[in-house]
Amino acid sequence: MNRIPTPEGLSFFLYVVLVAAIWSMTCFATANSDSFISGEHRETTEKQEQKPSFDLTHEERLWLKNHPQIRFAPAPNYPPVEFFDDDNVYRGITADFIKHINDRFSIRFRILQFKNWGEVVTQTKQRNVDMWGAAAKTKERSEYMNFTKPYIRLPAVIIVRKDVSGRLTMPDLKDKQIVVIRNYATQEYIEEKYPSLDLVPVPDIETGLRMVSFGVADSIVATNASAIYYIEKNGFTNLRVAGESGYEWRLCFGIRSDWPELVSIIQKCLDSISEDEKKAIYRRWISLEAPSWKMSRGQIIALLFVLAAVGIIGILIWNIMLQKKVETRTKQLRSTLKERSLILKNAQIGIAYIKNRKVRWINPMLAFQSGMDEKDVIGKSAGVFFLSDADYRRVDEAYIETLGQGAPYETDILLQRGEKDNYWCRLICQSIDSENVHEGSIWLMDDITAQKQLEQYLTKLATIDHLTGACNRRHFIDLGQKEIKRSNRLQSHLSLLMLDIDHFKLLNDNYGHATGDEALKFFVDKVQSILRSHDILGRIGGEEFAVLLANTDRRAGRNVADRIREEIASSSFVSNGKKISFTVSIGIAHEKNGEINLEELLDLADKALYKAKNRGRNRVATAADRS
Ligand code: GH3
Ligand code: MG
Ligand code: MG
Repeated sequence: MNRIPTPEGLSFFLYVVLVAAIWSMTCFATANSDSFISGEHRETTEKQEQKPSFDLTHEERLWLKNHPQIRFAPAPNYPPVEFFDDDNVYRGITADFIKHINDRFSIRFRILQFKNWGEVVTQTKQRNVDMWGAAAKTKERSEYMNFTKPYIRLPAVIIVRKDVSGRLTMPDLKDKQIVVIRNYATQEYIEEKYPSLDLVPVPDIETGLRMVSFGVADSIVATNASAIYYIEKNGFTNLRVAGESGYEWRLCFGIRSDWPELVSIIQKCLDSISEDEKKAIYRRWISLEAPSWKMSRGQIIALLFVLAAVGIIGILIWNIMLQKKVETRTKQLRSTLKERSLILKNAQIGIAYIKNRKVRWINPMLAFQSGMDEKDVIGKSAGVFFLSDADYRRVDEAYIETLGQGAPYETDILLQRGEKDNYWCRLICQSIDSENVHEGSIWLMDDITAQKQLEQYLTKLATIDHLTGACNRRHFIDLGQKEIKRSNRLQSHLSLLMLDIDHFKLLNDNYGHATGDEALKFFVDKVQSILRSHDILGRIGGEEFAVLLANTDRRAGRNVADRIREEIASSSFVSNGKKISFTVSIGIAHEKNGEINLEELLDLADKALYKAKNRGRNRVATAADRS
């Protein structure tokens, strides 16, 4: 099933997407930040030396006296370890340690600010700098610097864009551009351990993160905490930590190699700082609370705008798709309707839709066969098709009853054609809803006039004597038997006449067979003119006829027979210019109360006819008459 989402469903879906997006972004930020900070903090704190004592030797004190000011050059851009803020104030973890040493031990530092670490290194080599705040001990640096024991440990991690999936190790970065901070220990470490990797040195971590975020480079190896600092500051939300580089920054104070006294002094200073004091410093710069990266109010509003825009675009696209679907479906429906309409219009059978006894629709064939204009029929009573109100009422009652029983109604009926004509129709009514017939029904109206005429013709052929138009023998017997039964039931009289044209052979011989046929037709016409409409005249043999007179007693029967005989005897017809007349002999039989059947009656009448012939013809004799 091709299902279309409802607008309510779509709104709910968008709402869920919105909530899920905000939740997942918050969670993601929390999770990332957690892993950045807590691990680092743990390492930083756990690995501290535990010696809160301070005991300078005499030589050391003397040395300090001779060196009243130490030129101290921090890494200018290495937050949160050490950096210069917007007001060029030296800040960070190391700055706090330096402040501590300065406050408590009165060692005076002159803070020098250089553009980048590279410059710090250059100036140091030229002995313009005496001490570094947070530097890793490397082979190369050890040539001109001495180092205290590490007091900060930070893992260097691999940072990539979020579109790069999976955990990565350094060998995975083969053929990728890896940003490192120029002259940082990580550069030296990677160059030595992975010489085949493609390194892109940059002056500071912020530049490097920006390059990766903007897709200029593939990854950056940097300190976790610093990376977080800049990611937060600059909103590089498309970055993620993909793995560890294997390098751990063990940050120490670096002291020019020709000043070994200062190394032991600073180490003693460091050792005298209590664990709680160190923790307070770390906590100040590296939050234990997660998440450190939360969406700002502005970011949430921007996200909501983006989601709203996506939602609106989604609804618009959905609307367009829905509209297209509706258009396609409408086209299909139109085409289907057109097809069906064509079928109905061209159907070779009359079709009408009747509702509440009113004509709602007719097809052209019905208009044609009923000789009525569509406009003259629509809205009129269904009785408009019938010859009389009585006919319509009869059909209406019958079809509503039959349709109510869930069956179609069928009947052959003579209907109105135009103003004066009529036609035979096979009417089939089918209800649209059998529970409520008046809801509407379809009438199939087939013009069966030709078929009816054929039927009538065939019936006539089978029942009527084609020469004279009287009933043939078989039909006469059928009708006669029915009439006798009816008469018996009603206990009424019934007379049967047997008629035989006198000397008909002679007539044939004298005037020819064709004239004989004319005489037979003339005879039947004369007899019919005397009989009532319900009397039955049948041709029993060649020139032999029978008449069944219903509800006619003996005397009345005799009267009819006399009148026929007299009429025939007194009339004549002209054939081939000759006036021709003949006579008829009639035998009468009579019955009442179902005493005898048709055969016996015919037999009695035949006997009476025989008597009439014997008496000289042109006579009427009854079965009871003596011969
Ligand atoms: P009767 O007075 O004793 O009845 O003498 P009849 O000549 O009428 O009787 P018969 O039975 O001898 O002759 C009947 C004749 O009727 C013989 C036959 O050729 C003629 N006939 C029978 N059917 C037809 C018919 O359809 N057309 C014509 N033209 N003659 C017919
Ligand atoms: Mg005869
Ligand atoms: Mg005869």
